[in-house]
Amino acid sequence: MHFVVCIKQVPEGTEVEIDEEKGILKREGVESKLNVYDTYALEAAVALKEEFGGSVTVISMGPPQAEAVIRESYMLGADEGYLLSDRVFAGADTLATSYTLASAIRQLSDADIIFCGMQTTDGDTAQVGPGIAELLGLPHASYVKRLCTLEADAIILETDMGDGIESLKIELPCLLTVTNEINQPRLPSFRLKQGTKNRPVTIWDHQALVGAKQGYFGLDGSPTQVERIFPPPKSQEQVIWQGTPFELSQRMCAKLRELKYI
Ligand SMILES: Cc1cc2nc3c(=O)[nH]c(=O)nc-3n(C[C@H](O)[C@H](O)[C@H](O)COP(=O)(O)OP(=O)(O)OC[C@H]3O[C@@H](n4cnc5c(N)ncnc54)[C@H](O)[C@@H]3O)c2cc1C
Repeated sequence: MHFVVCIKQVPEGTEVEIDEEKGILKREGVESKLNVYDTYALEAAVALKEEFGGSVTVISMGPPQAEAVIRESYMLGADEGYLLSDRVFAGADTLATSYTLASAIRQLSDADIIFCGMQTTDGDTAQVGPGIAELLGLPHASYVKRLCTLEADAIILETDMGDGIESLKIELPCLLTVTNEINQPRLPSFRLKQGTKNRPVTIWDHQALVGAKQGYFGLDGSPTQVERIFPPPKSQEQVIWQGTPFELSQRMCAKLRELKYI
């Protein structure tokens, strides 16, 4: 079977700076890493490959430095990697991102299961996985927390519905977005690091995506516009009180009286 995993490079940490004028995240000079949910997606694919055979291909859309997450995926068991990198792809909203990734997956032509993380830790929209599936006309399930049985032409799984668990049987080919409950990702292997250091990463620009329509990429293909982007206001300062239980309860009562809660 051929498993395809969409992986995104995201800024490290939670303190991402925002360019309020341009309405984008400031990514220059910021340490980056593989989106954490994509490590679960990759682990799911590699574990299926190990059990049932086949291969794992990873795809990322991003600037040239996103090659680092593809190299990292090689250390985690991926066999082949594609980086979709082109100025034409810049400024993409979730629809244009989904279009670009879907065009690349269509070009690979033989994906049986496409895995995505349930969301990213920067854009955080959870739209790209379902967007790719819709563009490819594939059945899909989001928030998959357990893979139960893989059959020749279908997969049985459980999704987290928030207020319940749904058990589904989905025909292949399909797309799944996974939660962090699905597995425990392995650590990068030193043996694979050594063994894959000369493995190529295929770079595709917009011309490589045969049949894709030019106006659907990047800013031109993005029907949504960022009107304003700003960090949420910081919640109130947190204060830590120390003392005996009696002192702390006295102090708490005084504070509540001061705030007129009691
Ligand atoms: C109008 C507009 C303009 C924008 N301009 C820019 C810009 O100039 N530069 C910029 O960096 N961002 C820009 N963005 C943000 C960009 O659209 C999102 O980063 C991107 O669409 C992914 O959305 P997300 O992070 O919410 O992913 P989610 O939908 O939360 O991600 C779900 C899963 O989809 C997959 N996935 C998502 N993105 C990728 C990817 N790039 N490659 C591979 N797999 C992926 C992963 O498996 C991921 O776990 C813009 C957004 C808007 C609305």
